[in-house]
Amino acid sequence: MYIGRFAPTPSGDLHYGSLVTAIASFLDAKKFGGKWLLKIDDLDKQRVRKGSIESILKTLECLHLFWDSTETYQSHRLEAYEFYFKKLLETRKTYHCNCSRKFLSENAKLGESGYIYPGFCRNKVLGNSTINACATRLIVDDLPIFIDDQIQGKLSQNLSKEIGDFVIKRNDQQFSYQFSVCIDNKLDKITNIVRGADLLSSTPRQVYLLNLLNFDIPEFSHVPIANIGKKKISKSDDYKVSINGNQKAIWMKVLKFLNQPISKNTSEMKLDEIIKYAIKNWEISEVSPLNSIEIS
Ligand SMILES: [Zn+2]
Repeated sequence: MYIGRFAPTPSGDLHYGSLVTAIASFLDAKKFGGKWLLKIDDLDKQRVRKGSIESILKTLECLHLFWDSTETYQSHRLEAYEFYFKKLLETRKTYHCNCSRKFLSENAKLGESGYIYPGFCRNKVLGNSTINACATRLIVDDLPIFIDDQIQGKLSQNLSKEIGDFVIKRNDQQFSYQFSVCIDNKLDKITNIVRGADLLSSTPRQVYLLNLLNFDIPEFSHVPIANIGKKKISKSDDYKVSINGNQKAIWMKVLKFLNQPISKNTSEMKLDEIIKYAIKNWEISEVSPLNSIEIS
């Protein structure tokens, strides 16, 4: 059975950029008679803003984006993360790293996703007293990882050359995004991931982790990021979605962005009729394979 999800970070209100991925993932799940789950990515406490969770849930409900089970929270899953983290330690592919940002900026090459980490600490012996302040990295292979994205097409990445050994637990002992989302997808039995193209470059790392843990690889689809004035819409931008009374207009704006057909007589249609039409006519192949597009 198809199980999809939307996984917002509660760092502010939902904006058009996040609504695009919410609606795309919702439509894809519903088109295939699947479930659409809601997971709150609240692991990074520094990014969580008070009141955001309530605001996100309310916005989704206002837009009739109803999720299929009770929402889940990353912050409630620390035991599961710890369990699978131990499994990774057993692979003997992990090691502690105490490299500072400054050291990396002076000694590592900058790639498209940050510094390419060439394994400076792979053979370093670190004392027990320092380990609690160290990050844990995962050794990667010098082999390409292939992805066949439903929107972006086929691509490959050599983790060793383009990313390097990456962090699964940060030096503040918080599990990394790459690691935690893989465990979430396993726990939620996710089969299809529709999300923003800003996460495309993270996908090979996640596939690598999924393979190491013997988890199934979900189907990936990365929708373009919504830009305004060539700048990615983020929470800090003042591009708020004002919901009240605008539900139909918001849906149509997002459907247009996703290059989906819109019924001619929307002015006479109810919101649920517009959504029903959108589900029936959803074609993921019509979504632009660009990394980002302007939202109008
Ligand atoms: Zn290091």
